[in-house]
Amino acid sequence: MAAESTKTVKRLSELADSLRVKPGATVSLDKDFDPAFTPASLTRKQGDELLGQSIEQLAAYQDRLAAQETYGVLLVLQAIDAGGKDGTIKHVMSGVNPQGVQVHSFKVPSAEELRHDFLWRYSQHLPARGQIGIFNRSHYEEVLVVRVHRALLDRQKLPAGARGSSLFKRRYREINNWERYLVANGIKVVKVFLNLSREEQRKRFLARIDLAEKNWKFSAADVAERAHWDDYQKAFSEMLSNTSTKWAPWHVVPADHKWFTHLAVGATLLAALAEIDPQYPKLDSEARGGLDEAKKLLEAEAPKGGAKDPAAMRAASAT
Ligand code: AMP
Ligand code: MG
Repeated sequence: MAAESTKTVKRLSELADSLRVKPGATVSLDKDFDPAFTPASLTRKQGDELLGQSIEQLAAYQDRLAAQETYGVLLVLQAIDAGGKDGTIKHVMSGVNPQGVQVHSFKVPSAEELRHDFLWRYSQHLPARGQIGIFNRSHYEEVLVVRVHRALLDRQKLPAGARGSSLFKRRYREINNWERYLVANGIKVVKVFLNLSREEQRKRFLARIDLAEKNWKFSAADVAERAHWDDYQKAFSEMLSNTSTKWAPWHVVPADHKWFTHLAVGATLLAALAEIDPQYPKLDSEARGGLDEAKKLLEAEAPKGGAKDPAAMRAASAT
């Protein structure tokens, strides 16, 4: 990798590090994190340039991830309504090969999904090796919306023994164990929580009401949900305190300034890929021999007077 890109990756990895929730830390969202934070040393213009560079680097890493086909990456995005999940996906993933990415947005569970254990529907959408999967909302809804609205649990058909006061503690443990299993099996889990302020949510809702092209994003239920703001903040804090693990830590990304949100999420995903450091597969001597044989056959078919192998000249001039 060129020295300039190594420097960019290092700088962005440091940014990702600074957003990480230390495993075992007790988080109180409103005291510990500022939704409007941006680094004093970074202007929006510099941030946008850096995002551009990180998008280029993401594409390069993704190409190797797909070629190596050993690791998968799961990006988990959680946020309150209007937190910026959709816009973040649109911007951060704008440079990657669509063939290597699947986004899944989780909605209210279907009747079929409710007939299964709570992690079942999430495991249906995990990325394969070589792929980047994005969960737009995720298995964490099972300890967020379901925690805020206990009536949702009634629809989950749990046996009596699986309910009770320790249910959410148990779910944290089960989620941690599930993620540990995924990571141990080569699926890296990258978790991002977009931290929006109440006032910024109010402004974004109003924009969705006032601007015709945003109307479709708003539903009256969003305002009803906003009334549960404090319950959500508490559920987020509990989630961050209980499920930021060594193998799959949370990153709390300030979400009031979209330019910084996009940069921070890009940096977090890039840091995860840099940690994997995927490589193009190296051929063994037998496979190499096969390619050399094929090359001879193709060169023998060169048109009269034409170059025997134009790609070889390009390869030579590239090194
Ligand atoms: P949106 O992301 O705006 O399209 O909305 C999706 C809706 O699905 C949100 O209101 C979520 O709270 C809801 N939702 C997602 N997962 C679950 C779940 N596991 N149980 C209940 N509701 C959910
Ligand atoms: Mg919504």
